[in-house]
Amino acid sequence: MEQKTMKALVYHEPGKISLDEVDVPVIKQPKDVIGKVTINAICTSDVHVMHGYLPMATPPLILGHEFCVEAIEAGSEAKDIQGNDIVIGKHYCVLPASFCGECDFCKAGNIAGCVNGGTYGVMQNGCQAEYVRIPDSHSGMLPIPEGMTDKQIVLLGDMLATAWFGIENANVEEGQTIAVVGLGPVGMCACELLTNYFGCKVVGLTRSQEKLDLALKQGVIVAGISPATDDVAARVAELTEGKGFSAVIETPGNQSSMDLACSVVGYQGIVSTIAIFGSAITIPMNALCYKNATIKMGVQQLHGIAEMLEAIMTGKISTEWMLTHSSSLDEIVKGYEVFGGSDTPDCIKWVIEA
Ligand SMILES: [Zn+2]
Ligand SMILES: [Zn+2]
Repeated sequence: MEQKTMKALVYHEPGKISLDEVDVPVIKQPKDVIGKVTINAICTSDVHVMHGYLPMATPPLILGHEFCVEAIEAGSEAKDIQGNDIVIGKHYCVLPASFCGECDFCKAGNIAGCVNGGTYGVMQNGCQAEYVRIPDSHSGMLPIPEGMTDKQIVLLGDMLATAWFGIENANVEEGQTIAVVGLGPVGMCACELLTNYFGCKVVGLTRSQEKLDLALKQGVIVAGISPATDDVAARVAELTEGKGFSAVIETPGNQSSMDLACSVVGYQGIVSTIAIFGSAITIPMNALCYKNATIKMGVQQLHGIAEMLEAIMTGKISTEWMLTHSSSLDEIVKGYEVFGGSDTPDCIKWVIEA
């Protein structure tokens, strides 16, 4: 490649990020690919890294892990996720973490624990740059099918897959009424999947009337409850025949959202939290204990990718309506301020387009 330096969003120390000029990444291993980033999205996890909440993220570090690329250069052994050779010029959706597929963790199905890989923008340089190095391409490069756009698929690897993981943990069945606490991008993806893929009825719980209105307008919830204005217990009783919810998907991962989730779950219900926690919180143990309820959590394991890709292709599910804001890479710092700010309820997702 002729270009030697590029623009990249670099995390320098807690609270400090800047758009810098850095070296263009190069192939280091035979399974590496260099991709030109076509679209990427700012994630709450990126904002957590910026604030220094994730100690495993050591600066200087290029942020970002939700992205699609055009393949520019490929190592001699680089393959895509389907085992095919990487095609230069072709577009790929890249999953948020690379993993080797060979270590004990990977063999046990715990790819999040892979000793040779890690999440982009946390354990290795990420995608909020002009170019990105993708190690172990065979584990993370999903070819974008003919006729599909990068925009249709950019939320697949993290937002949708995280929602899928939370739904899996919640043991949902068709026709059930499920609660989703928090209607950020993962919450909206959970609503979209539960309604349009799993055939459930969804009740959204958030203090943001704007987000409830958007979810209702999109038809991904049947009802909304706002702790800011509603009598939560009365509304839950009304919507669940007095039983509470059999499953609650919790997405913000803060004290009030966890308290809310534990208060609305029903007898023998499941609170399935899919947040990454910015700080320690207290679980109201007796709220769960007296209901014989279960709490489940964890980091998604990239399940459901093929099923969701098919569902996007056939139009069964869509996430494009969640891409409320977009800009060029030059304005990414503003994107962090708006998406990561507390006073922008209309911003579900900020994407950077090349
Ligand atoms: Zn993410
Ligand atoms: Zn591994």
